[in-house]
Amino acid sequence: MPIYEYIPKDPEKASCPHCRDGFETMQRIADPHLEKCPQCGAPIVRAISAPSLGRSVSSLDDRAKAAGFTKLKRLGKGEYEKQY
Ligand SMILES: [Zn+2]
Repeated sequence: MPIYEYIPKDPEKASCPHCRDGFETMQRIADPHLEKCPQCGAPIVRAISAPSLGRSVSSLDDRAKAAGFTKLKRLGKGEYEKQY
């Protein structure tokens, strides 16, 4: 299953420790994207889908922030699901 990273849509309103700096969750491709933090309900957006191996959380975080929200749409290209 791919791991998705979510970051707060409005960092000013994201006050809980879970979503304040972003968080990661495993979801199936078919699952709907989260729109709210499961802990505090603050609006969140999916930041990046990344391979589950050989990645750095801190660099992902930096890249997500640097990329901004306008580039998020193209991040789905690398997504795939293993076929058994
Ligand atoms: Zn939260």
